[in-house]
Order: sequence, then structure tokens, then C-alpha cells
Amino acid sequence: RAKTEGGNQSIIFDHSMSKSVENHFLIERELRQAVHSGQLKLFLQSQVNNAGVIVGAEALVRWQHPERGFISPTAFIHIAEESDLIIEIGRWVLTEACRLLTCEGLAGRSIVLSVNISPKQFRQPRFAASIKHLLAETGADPTHLKLEVTENLLIHNMNDVIAKMIELAALGIRFSLDDFGTGYSSLAYLKRLPIQELKIDRSFVQDVTINPDDATLVESILAVAKHMKLQVVAEGVETEEQASFLNARGDVIHQGYLFSKPELAADWLKRLAQQ
Ligand code: C2E
Ligand code: MG
Ligand code: MG
Ligand code: MG
Repeated sequence: RAKTEGGNQSIIFDHSMSKSVENHFLIERELRQAVHSGQLKLFLQSQVNNAGVIVGAEALVRWQHPERGFISPTAFIHIAEESDLIIEIGRWVLTEACRLLTCEGLAGRSIVLSVNISPKQFRQPRFAASIKHLLAETGADPTHLKLEVTENLLIHNMNDVIAKMIELAALGIRFSLDDFGTGYSSLAYLKRLPIQELKIDRSFVQDVTINPDDATLVESILAVAKHMKLQVVAEGVETEEQASFLNARGDVIHQGYLFSKPELAADWLKRLAQQ
């Protein structure tokens, strides 16, 4: 079951709902309307350093359904990915993030916003050009924009993918490897990628203090990152114990419910202003 976050509405959308072909197309049609009628909302989740200072945030899309409330992307991104909707949704999120970067609350601050890029979106022939256009249009500082890609992007046509990443990195845009360790890929490619950051997946962080295997995995990721001079973001930090475990072993940025849940951009800006 997909759980909604950041809103007081409770559950809505069952993953099994989208399993039947009929429902799949129903949801796709509703989603298409949603994109065009302003039902997508931008949520942001703070990323804090070991002193608790907000250094960035991840942009996380929500679907504000008129009857069902806020719907988590885990319930609809996979449907969007099977159609061209993911490209429109992705473009919308990127535009919102770039606009946010130029807003008053962020001016003069070195806050970096991270945006998830789906493989299909990244593989668009005009992806790099559209990013350049968007930066020019909004005036957003490319060095404050970080694109989160997953290992699965690298399975096919790795050379093309890397070339495109290098083209974007040359603009000052940063890259993060999301859900690190959960995809299908080898460590060998890491040294070829123009990335600045690894994100430890929540599934490793969850039991890091009670499961020795997870602890070893996390320690290994920290060692690789240190060796390659990559920043590490730990996803899904929920307890003080998890935070201490990580802080004792490296210089880690935390993202999780312990610090804050994803929240509407306006609320996140208020949080930032109070800091
Ligand atoms: P992700 O990129 O790995 O994002 C992290 C997910 O972990 C988010 O789920 C976030 O709300 C959740 N999370 C963070 N801290 C905690 C915690 O302490 N506890 C728990 N239980 N969960 C935590 P969310 O927002 O539901 O997004 C799920 C996935 O949907 C994202 O995983 C990402 O893969 C995808 N997604 C979200 N927004 C976009 C988007 O704009 N474009 C694309 N392509 N994918 C998106
Ligand atoms: Mg992400
Ligand atoms: Mg992630
Ligand atoms: Mg994840």
C-alpha cells in the first residue's frame, strides 16, 4: 500500500489497484488530466549536515487528487514511466525547482535542490538542451541544482549517458547516485561518472543499528565514498541511533523523518527562514 506523506489525509491508493489493465489506464488518464490541471504539488524534504543545519532539499512530487488527497509518487511514477507522462511530470518538477532556486527565500543562500530524473526522461535526445533552456529561462544557478539518477540508467548505452552527464556537469550541475546499492550495476563504472554524491538507500539505513549485514554495507559505502571523495547522503534516517551510527563513521548528510518529512514548498521555505 502506498502511504501518503506530508498531508493529514490518510491512505488512498492501493498498489494492487494499478495491477489490472483497466485500472492502469484509468489511473493514466486521470494522471494526464492531473498534470494539466495543476494537481501536481512540489514537496521538499530537508537534507541536514551533522550539525543539523539545512544544506539542501530533495524535490518530491505529490499528486493532490480532488477526492483521494495527496498521493505518493510510489503509487503513480511507475505508471507515468510506462507512458510519456513521466517526461511531462519530470519537466514540471524541474521547472518548479528552478523557480524555487530563484525565489527570495533562497537568494544568497548556498542551498542545493535535488531533483529525481527518471531514466526515460534522461534518455530524451533533447534533455540536456531543455535543461539549458530552463536555466536560461528561470535564471537559476546551475551549481545549486543536483540531479538524482539511479544505477539502472547506466545499464544501457553507458557511454552516451556519461557523455550527457559530462555535458550537464560542465554547466555546473551536480549529480547524485540515488538508491545506491539497490540497482544492477558494478562498482567499476563509479570512477567514470561525473558525480559528487552517493545516496544510501533507506533499505540499508533502516536496520543499520540492529543488522550487522546492513552495518557492514553502509560502512563499505562510506569507505568507497571517502576514497572517491564523494559526498554521502543517508536516506530515511528516522532515529537518533541511526544518525549517531552514521555520524560516528563519516561525514554524512541526513535526510529523514528524524529531521523533517517532505512538506509543501511554502512550508519548507518557512522552516528554512527560521534556521
Ligand atoms: P527516492 O528518490 O529514493 O526518495 C526518497 C523517498 O524516501 C521519498 O519517498 C521520501 O519521502 C522517503 N523518505 C525520506 N525519509 C524517510 C524516512 O525517514 N522514513 C520513510 N519511511 N521514508 C522516508 P516518496 O516521496 O514517496 O518518493 C518515492 C520515490 O518516488 C522517490 O524515491 C523517487 O524514486 C520517486 N520520485 C519522487 N518524486 C519524483 C520526481 O519528481 N520524478 C521522478 N522521476 N521520481 C520521483
Ligand atoms: Mg531521490
Ligand atoms: Mg533515494
Ligand atoms: Mg529510495
